[in-house]
Amino acid sequence: MKHDRHVLTFQTTKRRQLINITPQVRDCVRKSGVQHGLVLVNAMHITASVFINDDESGLHQDFEAWLEGLAPEKPYDRYRHNTYEDNADAHLKRTIMGREVVVAITDGDLDFGPWEQIFYGEFDGKRKKRVLVKIIGE
Ligand code: ZN
Repeated sequence: MKHDRHVLTFQTTKRRQLINITPQVRDCVRKSGVQHGLVLVNAMHITASVFINDDESGLHQDFEAWLEGLAPEKPYDRYRHNTYEDNADAHLKRTIMGREVVVAITDGDLDFGPWEQIFYGEFDGKRKKRVLVKIIGE
């Protein structure tokens, strides 16, 4: 069995940002030489997510509004976590958007359904954060 590991790094300019990381993940899969297997992609931080959805700007605005409705960033003092930090909302947003995705690799490429794309969801950005890409197969 082959295996490979990559770490992608991101530093967003905004506190919250969604980034399509499908090209980077596809590049990792191609470099691994794995033709048939699985790729795990997970955020290595508890205030960021990796998830699969559509790369459509209206939907991304809908995610922002929906998440702000569920766990508004402000006022900071509405959260017990915000004694030494101000990122309780980011922990909650990350939880509902998920930690990781697993995608099948078939014939050396990501075996997606229609419109599926992999996103990095940053909820407490403006600092360096990492995403793990782990590939296994043959
Ligand atoms: Zn925190």
